Amino acid sequence: MEKIIIITGASRGIGKEIAKKLALKGLKVIANYNKSEKEMEELKLELEKKDIYIDIVKADVSKREEAKKLVQYALNKYKKIDILINNAGISEYKLFTDETDEDWNNVINTNLYSAFVMSQEVVPNMISNQNGCIINISSIWGLVGASLEVLYSVSKAGMNGLTKALAKELGPSNIRVNSIAPGIIQTDMIKDFNSKEIEDIKQDIPLEKIGKTEDITKCVEWLIEDNYTTGQIISINGGWVIT
Ligand code: NAP
Repeated sequence: MEKIIIITGASRGIGKEIAKKLALKGLKVIANYNKSEKEMEELKLELEKKDIYIDIVKADVSKREEAKKLVQYALNKYKKIDILINNAGISEYKLFTDETDEDWNNVINTNLYSAFVMSQEVVPNMISNQNGCIINISSIWGLVGASLEVLYSVSKAGMNGLTKALAKELGPSNIRVNSIAPGIIQTDMIKDFNSKEIEDIKQDIPLEKIGKTEDITKCVEWLIEDNYTTGQIISINGGWVIT
């Protein structure tokens, strides 16, 4: 039977690549976006030229009501959700002493609260199906912390905690919950680094290169197929962080 998957933040970067690859593999993809409507429409059209149809749904997943509508859209149309990928995220570089309550709410709600609400909205359906796979796209900074990215690090560490606890609670319902913690991946998220900064980062990475979105997608594909991995934080980072 066709697998139904929701991917948040699928209009650009890692989420877009995951949506495209899984749609090409025959999964029924519900691709979420918030601001990048044009990019999302372009992916839909690109796939339609290959006779592959994805659903695109606008929702700011940092808000409960919008996350709920996204899940309801999927359930009304397909009656079940097999896989949820909590990928939507933002980064922020700031001195800790300059961070405001607004920054806290923005980063934590987008990166962490979204994963909490999206999971809460899909889990009842997964429990009644006694089947499910949740993949949270975290970060190495949730494992080891990053200077000037305190809020981002907090959000991703929280996501890792959510992953571990939820894996234990939902395991008996045959729902697997895992995180992928990328290092540095070539997307818009790193567009503000200049070429010197990128070269310096590469020198700190044992594999001496920046990751590609495909590197993350391969792990997503494996986690979807697997049936005995849960509660794990899988870090794909070229050896930059080895814990
Ligand atoms: P990106 O290219 O900037 O894309 C971010 C995506 O998140 C966009 O599709 C954006 O959609 C979506 N998004 C942001 N806020 C949203 C909201 N409130 N509601 C719905 N969608 C929202 O970033 P990326 O590099 O692909 O990052 C994807 C994930 O990987 C993030 O969680 C990020 O923290 C994580 N990650 C990335 C790296 C890296 O080096 N690139 C490293 C570690 C972890 P719209 O544009 O439509 O709003």
